[in-house]
Amino acid sequence: SIVYLDGAYMPMEEARISPMDRGFLFGDGIYEVIPSYDGKLVGFGPHIERMNEGLGLIDINCRFTDADWREVCDTLIEKNGAGNLGIYLHVSRGADSRRHHAYPENVEPTIFAFAFEIPAAPVADRDKVKPYKVSSTEDLRWKRCNIKSTALLGNVMHFQQGHASGNQEIILYNANNEMTEGSACNAYIVKDGVVITPPLDHQILPGITRLMLLDILRKDGSIPVEERVVTMDEVRNADEIWLTSSSKEIAPVIELDGQPVGDGRVGAVWEKAQALYTANKYNY
Ligand code: PLP
Repeated sequence: SIVYLDGAYMPMEEARISPMDRGFLFGDGIYEVIPSYDGKLVGFGPHIERMNEGLGLIDINCRFTDADWREVCDTLIEKNGAGNLGIYLHVSRGADSRRHHAYPENVEPTIFAFAFEIPAAPVADRDKVKPYKVSSTEDLRWKRCNIKSTALLGNVMHFQQGHASGNQEIILYNANNEMTEGSACNAYIVKDGVVITPPLDHQILPGITRLMLLDILRKDGSIPVEERVVTMDEVRNADEIWLTSSSKEIAPVIELDGQPVGDGRVGAVWEKAQALYTANKYNY
């Protein structure tokens, strides 16, 4: 594939960074994944806004404007065949001459981007969608989960834990038995027709799919939405469980820790929400 690195496009095999890059040594950077279908990006504006907020939170001064990011995204889509693509954007603090914890001065951030294939967006049909099975475990990540940091070892270990037990994702909960999110997605329950998801705070990533889905549901008005604390007891008694992320949109969950969710079938509220999402996702 053709990638972007610090001002140039090149085959992936030719892309080189310094081993002293703080992204490599410390996971000191911010990233984004923006989905695109048939050359059309989903949520470009809010994705770039979140990246700029993250860069601000860790004091990385990145020279790229929104127009620069747009050009990189469009060029990668064009050079990589415009199918179902995730566009990965990455800014690390850059390469320092020594390995020192303090933020160095006068170091240029490293900017890297590539495109990778993602599954086709789900069709809003409860008989055709491939549902998820998940496990659950205590969330052992750090207390800055709102930062989309490239330091993902906590997420990687949790994802692997879910995978090793034969599931596709893992739902995380804090020491108070309250659901936070999945290892690579936001999490929701549906109870008596109401969609409920944890509020934004340091425990979860402010997902762009979450932002768009909640906005779409509120504007439509036919499915009530609540942002509030969700206990694991509520999760285990939910009618439906959903997961969202840029590369999966809304994924229905039919099994949690080996137990059926609701009646064990993909839910009717999921079908309606995914249809609304499909109809409105290019408006952001
Ligand atoms: N939470 C975590 C930990 C994630 O890694 C992701 C995305 O990969 C999400 C939530 C969902 O975010 P978005 O909808 O912006 O892809």
